[in-house]
This record gives sequence, C-alpha cells and structure tokens, in this order.
Amino acid sequence: MALFDRLKAGLAKTAKQIRERFSEVDETDSAAVPVSAGGRALSSGPRLQLDTFEAVEDALIAADVGLPATERIVEAVKRDRQGSLSSRVGREVRRILGEAAPVPVITTVPHVILIVGVNGTGKTTTVGKLANLYKQSGKSVLVCAADTFRAAAVEQLAVWTERAGVDLVRAQMGSDPAAVTFDALVAAKARQREIVLVDTAGRLHTKTNLMAELDKIRRIVSREVPGAPHEVLLVLDATVGQNGLAQAREFQQASGANGIVLTKLDGTAKGGVAVAIAHDLKLPIRFVGVGEGIDDFLTFDADAYVDAIFSA
Ligand code: GDP
Repeated sequence: MALFDRLKAGLAKTAKQIRERFSEVDETDSAAVPVSAGGRALSSGPRLQLDTFEAVEDALIAADVGLPATERIVEAVKRDRQGSLSSRVGREVRRILGEAAPVPVITTVPHVILIVGVNGTGKTTTVGKLANLYKQSGKSVLVCAADTFRAAAVEQLAVWTERAGVDLVRAQMGSDPAAVTFDALVAAKARQREIVLVDTAGRLHTKTNLMAELDKIRRIVSREVPGAPHEVLLVLDATVGQNGLAQAREFQQASGANGIVLTKLDGTAKGGVAVAIAHDLKLPIRFVGVGEGIDDFLTFDADAYVDAIFSA
C-alpha cells in the first residue's frame, strides 16, 4: 500500500466519525445559503448556522482534539467562508500543525535520539520500526537497549533489530542504563554509525527515579557527543487520547522531549489528539504507528494527515 493510503487506513476511524457529523450539518446548511433575487449565492461559501458550530465542536471533541484547539478551530470556521465545512476545518487544523516546533535536521554524526515513554505505549516496537525506517532510507543505525529492567523487551528489540539489519548494544539485565548508553556511543563512534536510537526505561519504582535515570542518560550522552541528544522522542499511545497530553507535559519538562511518536492510530477514533499536542504543547508529531508490523510506521506529514481526515 502507498504511504498515503496506509495513513488514510490508519486514520479511517477518526475520519469516519468526523465526516459523519459534518455531512449531516453540511446538508442542512446548504439550504441556508443566502441568495439574491437572481438566485445567485451572495457569499462565496455557505453561511453556517449555530447548530453547525456545535456539531463541529462535538465532532472535534469526540476525536480528542481537545477544548483549546477546538475553540480556535470553531472561531476560524466562523470567519472563513471559503469552501465546504470540512475544508474550512482542515485549513485551520493544518495551520495549527504548522505552528509546532520545527523538526530537527541531522547535521552531526552520530545523531543521537532518545526514545522515552511509558511502558505499553509501543515504545519497543517504535524503536524497531524507527531503526528500520532509517536503515531503509540509507542511514547506518545503532540501537542501544538502555531499558535494562525488561528482559522481554530487550529480546523483542533483538528480533526487530536483526530483521532491520542494524546493530544492537545490550547489557546484563539490571546493569546501569547510563553505562550501556556510554558503551553504545563508543561503539557508534568507532563504527561511524549515523543514527543512535536509545531505548530508555518506561517504568521504575517511582516517577522521580524514572526522570532521574533519564537525566543521567542525557548527561552521559551530552558528555560523549557534544550537542546530543539531538532529539528526545516521546512515544504516546493515541488510543488514550487526551490522557496522553498529561504524560507529554511531564516528559516535556523532565526529559526535554521535543517530538512525538503517536502509536496505534489504527485502532482509534481519537486521532485528533495530534492536533491537541501541536496546539497545546507546540510539539511536532514526528512519526505515527499504524499497525503492528515493521512497515506500519510513517513519517508524519501534516498535509497528508489533513487530507486523510478532511478531504472528501
Ligand atoms: P512498550 O511496552 O511500550 O515497549 O510496548 P510494545 O512495543 O511492547 O507494544 C505494546 C503492544 O502494542 C504490542 O502488542 C505492539 O504490537 C502494539 N503496538 C505498538 N505499536 C502499534 C501500532 O502502531 N498499532 C497497533 N495496532 N499496535 C501497536
């Protein structure tokens, strides 16, 4: 399947839910276009009714776009008279996505990316998929298993990295994650790997411990590779919708997360959470997971996202 079709399939539930509501009000509103005596429409687009704005609000809230972004979109739709309801909403959504922080460019080698997030969100799978994506795009990749508490996760990572044909640096279970990270960076420099993906732990006894561990890894990384980590990607499960925002805020503050990977878009009608993240946190969505397979993973494209949900 082509990339856009895969995104479209992944967002199908979200799109269906929004479109159904929009089509109901679109029909109602087309009857409300003010016309002149000659029968020509007076405005360039239909004048929308109060019910319509409520329906837009309901649909966006149900898709987990969140209240602040929804309010902004509704205000924009009231002002914007060009085209159908879907296209007006889509235009404002695109604007919001475009206001998130820019995507970092790869300027030095190794380019170090920390992957952070809570267990169960699809973090391990994401590291494997990301390693594969970079490898496919011609980059040399080294993965560091710095989650030294979950033997099963490391085994899973070993399978994914072998399939992707990339290096894996792992250590004894229970050993110091910062020490494994150090070893991985030494290996990456010696082997001249371009991308280093560090899979960090997702759960410790307390949140304070988790954040302290991430901080220690960050310090090792920045000492060994000046300017690193170049990216800290937070993995969020789209099916938890708005609850993911609270997680994102914590990780943004404590670990300096500067980009989001949104997983499990395929299983949810809450795909609007991407808009809430961009609007409320100004964090760019970098990648999306649309299934369990190694290829079910896409670089996020804001235009394609808007198209998949809002174009007829
Ligand atoms: P971790 O605990 O965060 O490391 O999570 P895992 O990587 O082990 O993933 C947890 C479950 O989510 C596994 O069953 C994965 O196959 C599944 N998963 C991960 N990403 C996606 C996705 O994009 N779509 C779907 N449908 N399932 C996913």
